[in-house]
Amino acid sequence: MTDNYLLLGAKKRLIEELRQKGISDENVLQAFDKVERHLFVESFLWNKAYDNVALKLLNGQTISHPYTVAFQSQLLQIKKGEKVLEIGTGSGFQAAILSAMGANVYSVERQQMLYERTRKLLSKLDPSIVMYYGDGFLGFPRFAPYDKIIVTCGAPNVPMSLMDQLKVGGIMVIPVGDESQTMKRLTKVDADNFEEEVFGDFLFVPMLKDRVKRQ
Ligand code: SAH
Repeated sequence: MTDNYLLLGAKKRLIEELRQKGISDENVLQAFDKVERHLFVESFLWNKAYDNVALKLLNGQTISHPYTVAFQSQLLQIKKGEKVLEIGTGSGFQAAILSAMGANVYSVERQQMLYERTRKLLSKLDPSIVMYYGDGFLGFPRFAPYDKIIVTCGAPNVPMSLMDQLKVGGIMVIPVGDESQTMKRLTKVDADNFEEEVFGDFLFVPMLKDRVKRQ
């Protein structure tokens, strides 16, 4: 009881902090109220779950900063019922936020262990999210085209197949770069052309090619 009460307070403070840092999309802020971030990390990290920090997951991967999740979600301009592809499922938190915002979420993860663990968690927390164990450089063609695409690992470039799997008029939010990444928002104006906007520097784990099998 006490724990839940403390976590609830921490969550409210986090939402206030996001608001102060410039997150103004009420749909994003409400999703942060609905989704319980502590359920996406190991229980020994619960006391940090609502701090604005990135946390370690299995296999040296991370759950992004809450601000980064909120910022990317806001850039996507999600409307209810839109089909959204996420590359880099990780903990599943970003996927759960987008789903809570009303999107139909499809999410790809290359690490089999992480994929299996998160699939188990999401099957309880939000079974509407469709997960796929695969290489995000190839997207998820089965359900293409998508209204929106979000990449949550640092991409060396904008993968062609992701461009192809976006609807005309659709938006892709993708951090591009090797050491650090520039957040880009690409709007597909027609089959071959994108408009590009840039939104500052971020630090993500790298987007790597090929699937990794569980050991
Ligand atoms: N959205 C996640 C962030 C996880 S960190 C969350 O909310 O927790 C980025 C994730 O991208 C890692 O899990 C990593 O394994 C995954 N990743 C890296 N390269 C990938 C690729 N080519 N395809 C799919 N996932 C990839």
